Amino acid sequence: MKTLDQIAAELQGYDPQALSASAVNAFLSELVAPVTERENVSVFDALGRVLAEDIVSPISVPPHDNSAMDGYAFDGAQLRAGQPLTLRMLEGTAFAGKAWTGTVAPGACVKIMTGAIMPAGLDTVVPQELTLAADGGITVPAGALQRGDNRRLLGEDLMAGRPALRAGTRIGPAALGLIASLGLATVPVLRRVRVAYFSTGDEILSLGEAPREGAVYDSNRYTVYGLLTRLGLEVIDLGVVRDDPATLEAAFRQAARQADAIITSGGVSVGEADHTKAMMKKLGDVAFWRIAMRPGRPMAVGRIQASTGDGRFAAGPPQGESVPMGGSEPRAAGSVGALMFGLPGNPVAVMVTFLAFVRPALLKLMGVADVAAHTPPLLKARCLEPLRKKPGRTEYQRGTVSTAADGTLQVRTTGNQGSGVLSSMVEGNGLIVLHHAQGNVAVGDAVDVMVFDGVI
Ligand code: AMP
Ligand code: MG
Repeated sequence: MKTLDQIAAELQGYDPQALSASAVNAFLSELVAPVTERENVSVFDALGRVLAEDIVSPISVPPHDNSAMDGYAFDGAQLRAGQPLTLRMLEGTAFAGKAWTGTVAPGACVKIMTGAIMPAGLDTVVPQELTLAADGGITVPAGALQRGDNRRLLGEDLMAGRPALRAGTRIGPAALGLIASLGLATVPVLRRVRVAYFSTGDEILSLGEAPREGAVYDSNRYTVYGLLTRLGLEVIDLGVVRDDPATLEAAFRQAARQADAIITSGGVSVGEADHTKAMMKKLGDVAFWRIAMRPGRPMAVGRIQASTGDGRFAAGPPQGESVPMGGSEPRAAGSVGALMFGLPGNPVAVMVTFLAFVRPALLKLMGVADVAAHTPPLLKARCLEPLRKKPGRTEYQRGTVSTAADGTLQVRTTGNQGSGVLSSMVEGNGLIVLHHAQGNVAVGDAVDVMVFDGVI
């Protein structure tokens, strides 16, 4: 496994004091290795999990050529361009799940329902509504059909012996149904990733504590809880941790013992006089960054060791509020420590850095093969307001993206863009991404937007 210094040395133009957003992602994708332990789960439990190996189709879907419409099946070789075709109707009906076993000679057809197996030798279905009634049969009007129309081919969805789903696929509703369509009752998936999180700062109040001057209620733990849970991760809530070396050490040690990754908020900015940064440094291999972005400039990233220097596990959970939410079992012995993301304290900065950096890193940790495909694409929208923007940093302004009357996208900001204005994340449905080199935006200019509604 590479150390942070090794990763940094391989990265073009790495400057921890002025890191670009894209350099952060490049760094993280080197730092993070996917989990490898696997388990078999039932199809229902596979939702949101990541496939551990390719699934090769044991059967073909559909298993037979079958009808895509309610209508009449016949041999399409009889169709002649520009001519109607009149067919005699045979007795009986081919039903889905109940095959019609007779023989259909040229000049004849048989009634067939959607999903019914195509009778032997037939390849075309004329939908009921296209036909004209004829004496003892039907007429297919001239030009209504081509040979093979309205027939679904054996294996056109999934062919026996071919890969149906690739390892590293994150199983969504469609994949869940696809697995079931193969008749598989269990699915090999990678184990769930566990993430521990806590908030730091002596001014941070836990719910239930009385308000006091200069203190604010903890919001970050709740947004982080929501972000992680939506990603399908196991979470361990370690509460608010006081700015005290022993308490911080115990919290980091416990988190590293129990989790694959640790997310903290607060205490990583430059002017911080607290112990958080010192403790991160002491307990692991950690880099402190200033990212050329807004919001979310300061961030710490690295690995925290689970055990003390002499190889023993450090003692006990931290004091203070702790709300265990499962995951009390230690992770596998001999672990190399947990990934750590030390996010800034400001609530909007937490969410933006999570979306921009932590989410892709966690997807990789989960074993997702194509992380980019799970990242919301940048779309172009017409900006309805002028925006002030300094070149030299990436800005993520909160906006409301909508479809204009002409069908194109438009966006307006949610107003106050302060990094503590969490209501902007509630009101907006996306981020206006103003790139590193970009300057001011005039009304009507096209800007990149990333819709986060439904993603986080
Ligand atoms: P820091 O990064 O620790 O300097 O914090 C920056 C700002 O974010 C300060 O105004 C903090 O009070 C605020 N903050 C830090 N942690 C939290 C939290 N868990 N919930 C709400 N606000 C926070
Ligand atoms: Mg602080």
